[in-house]
Amino acid sequence: MARHGQPSRAFDAASVRAEFPILSDPGLHYLDNAAIAQIPTVVLDAMGLFDRELRANVHGGVYRLACGALAAYESARAAVARFIHAQSPAEVVFTYGTTSAINLLAHSFGALLQEGDEVLISQLEHHSNLLPWRQLAERRGVVLRTLPMTQDGRLDLDRLEETLRPRCRLVALTHCSNVTGALTDVDRVVAAARAVGAKVMLDGAQRLPHGAIDVQALGIDFYVFSGHKCYGPTGIGVLWGKAELLATMPPFMTGGQMIRRVTAEAVDYADPPRRLEAGTPPIGPAIGLGAALEWMARLDWDGAQRHERRLTQRVLARLAELPGVRVVGPLDLCERIGVVSFDIAGIDPTEVCRALDRRHGVALRAGYHCAQPLVAAFGLTGVARASLAPYSTDADVDALLEGLDALASERCRLVTSSGAAPAS
Ligand code: PLP
Repeated sequence: MARHGQPSRAFDAASVRAEFPILSDPGLHYLDNAAIAQIPTVVLDAMGLFDRELRANVHGGVYRLACGALAAYESARAAVARFIHAQSPAEVVFTYGTTSAINLLAHSFGALLQEGDEVLISQLEHHSNLLPWRQLAERRGVVLRTLPMTQDGRLDLDRLEETLRPRCRLVALTHCSNVTGALTDVDRVVAAARAVGAKVMLDGAQRLPHGAIDVQALGIDFYVFSGHKCYGPTGIGVLWGKAELLATMPPFMTGGQMIRRVTAEAVDYADPPRRLEAGTPPIGPAIGLGAALEWMARLDWDGAQRHERRLTQRVLARLAELPGVRVVGPLDLCERIGVVSFDIAGIDPTEVCRALDRRHGVALRAGYHCAQPLVAAFGLTGVARASLAPYSTDADVDALLEGLDALASERCRLVTSSGAAPAS
């Protein structure tokens, strides 16, 4: 977090947790952070500020309130730029989330591609980073290639050279899987992409909630993420792009606030980011996102990541001991974050989540997590997923493990009384 200076204090999960009003309920063990993270008071206050004190449209007004709203909106853009180390706030395009950021890119950058050009994605992608490219392939004759994953749910980078062909124009990969928790080796991806002249986009929806990044040091071209997974509001997300690339991209949506001049015959579009932000933007959510990233910038992420790794290790170690339980994802803590998906043979993952909620107050998520091809590749239709955040505690993990122990014993009893040999 070099350019933010030092975090304001050393990491302590309990005091971080105390900043989140919803987590004051001792009966709630919230472990669904990969779907949506909770919001600290300071961000709730910033979200309320727009509607209470600054509510005006951000474009065109010259009165005091409108100027205040525009200043707050643009200072949120600057906060995003600082957090991801963009070269300038003009490289930050506000969207409604990761999904809308990738759709924007697939239409706008996609409009620059020719028939026969290629886009490389992977087997690990969320549907948000699969379907917009599939649509682009259908729309423009672009060829979509898929990098396979390894058996433990990481990108199979040994197959990168064979999948990345000379016509590849964009490598669009997850920075971290929302199912397996696997982190992407960005240096390797960027080096291979550069060798064929392709641009690189990372889907940061799951990675950014775990600490600041430096888009310039990563050497990538585009980065996308959602506010609600980064301790901020829903309805806001970001497409970051290098200024020189955004400058070449035609608008995806057209309408108000994104032109320099329109006549009966012609239109001259504004420069990015406004060209890519047609209509009234989500002003309050953008201000909330700015506050959330400023809150994140004050956290000691080295300490937070050590804490998350320790809790993840506790979960993985216990899951490895339970009969019939299979973890879907890498076991090496250097290759993953605290998103742990698993299957318990013979128990529907939705039933696992119901039981953990009712009996232990643990909030988990079950299903295919908008990554059906990935879950299907493991021979499954769904998995249960526990996902950690800096405010997760040992008590949360204790409740999860107690619940899983109880389910595993019930399963053993059922299997034994039915006379079947328990699957291990
Ligand atoms: N990409 C990944 C890796 C995700 O985990 C998610 C949501 O869970 C998305 C994209 C889509 O994000 P959103 O629904 O905020 O647009």
